[in-house]
Amino acid sequence: MNILLLGSGGREHALAWKMRVSPLLDNLFIAPGNAGTGLIGKNLNVDPTDFNGVKNAVIKNNIDMVIVGPEVPLVKGIVDFFLNDPALSSVPVIGPSARGAQLEGSKEFAKQFMVQHKIPTARYLAVTSDTIDEGERFLNTLKSPYVLKADGLAAGKGVLIIDDIDEAKNELQMMLSGKFGKASDTVVIEEFLSGIEMSVFVVTDGHSYMLLPDAKDYKRIGEGDTGLNTGGMGAVSPVPFADEEFMEKVENRIIKPTIDGLKEDGIDYKGFIFFGLIKVENDPYVIEYNVRMGDPETEVVMPRLQSDVVEVFKAVAAGRLKDLTPKFDPRTAVTVMMVSGGYPGKYEKGKNILGLDHVEGSIVFHAGTTSGNGVLTSGGRVLAITSLGNSIDEALEKSYRNAEKVQFEKKYYRKDIGFDLK
Ligand code: ATP
Repeated sequence: MNILLLGSGGREHALAWKMRVSPLLDNLFIAPGNAGTGLIGKNLNVDPTDFNGVKNAVIKNNIDMVIVGPEVPLVKGIVDFFLNDPALSSVPVIGPSARGAQLEGSKEFAKQFMVQHKIPTARYLAVTSDTIDEGERFLNTLKSPYVLKADGLAAGKGVLIIDDIDEAKNELQMMLSGKFGKASDTVVIEEFLSGIEMSVFVVTDGHSYMLLPDAKDYKRIGEGDTGLNTGGMGAVSPVPFADEEFMEKVENRIIKPTIDGLKEDGIDYKGFIFFGLIKVENDPYVIEYNVRMGDPETEVVMPRLQSDVVEVFKAVAAGRLKDLTPKFDPRTAVTVMMVSGGYPGKYEKGKNILGLDHVEGSIVFHAGTTSGNGVLTSGGRVLAITSLGNSIDEALEKSYRNAEKVQFEKKYYRKDIGFDLK
């Protein structure tokens, strides 16, 4: 079959890499892709949020299935666009409808959903500029630190954690007056939960679900989890503290009620669900839902999946996921993200990447790369170096050895991925 994958990051290269080995795949197209996806499929110069552009690409290339990597096309309704167009309605899209995508697109929607379906999460209140007084009163009932979240998508920047109550009230006002544009017209105020975070992923056909390997990512730019937030500087799978007992709680208290809740609410959901969890004492709580895979988590999840991912996607589209039993590599996967110096602030692009041919024993997933005169940097997060090993240390040793061999001006990576798991 012919598949079109939307997106351009390390997540998409990892998905493409996994799809490429499937005997069910004929031609793979990636829109817009990067230098890495261009080596294993055909990159198309199409913006995933330009639905008419995607439609033309589907028709021109006889596409049988579309896989959506990032959240924005889902929240904008690409699944609905396909279902409502007679020329496209027979082409399955792996991803939720716009309504299902509200689990990520609106934090208020996600919180209401969790409360309604009794899924453990932090106490909250959603406020608008008309109810700011209630918001301030709610803040008075909470203990420091205070969590303020822009309701809508804010590219991972819309969450503030503030120690001082007066500052929190001030920030609340600024958010409601447009600090994050329309995304903060509504603000979710949350109780702060103290614990250790991890992520769990499932793919669902709307009836049953397949649990994928879990992972922990490292968001801050600096070692020891310090400095500014980034899109993710590395990841480890599996998460050692997510033992059988804990995962049973995750399935019974969170995953099953979520899948059942979607059904009860009449939301047809075929795609990935990413549960951002926090372990408080020994209990899991949901911090956030994402309606797609994580990046860089996909770069450790896909290498551990031994099942044919195209067969999984076909089963999702056909509603036959319950017939499949997934197989996973029991080894540990780690990924180390190599970024451009200055990221997540200002950084330069267009730097030559050298030494990729010298990498041995790791997989290099491209993120912000483009091909020109050789392979060039084109983003903040440039390459994810993934390795498998019998321990975190064994896997890390390979990734770090190879990260040294790859050269580009002002390259940077964290040297302590997995430091808290050993
Ligand atoms: P992402 O960058 O993952 O897309 P986001 O902008 O969608 O993030 P959240 O995941 O809801 O926002 O929050 C970002 C981070 O803030 C979380 O990973 C977590 O570290 C912290 N956080 C959010 N809510 C809480 C909470 N209630 N208690 C403690 N920490 C929290």
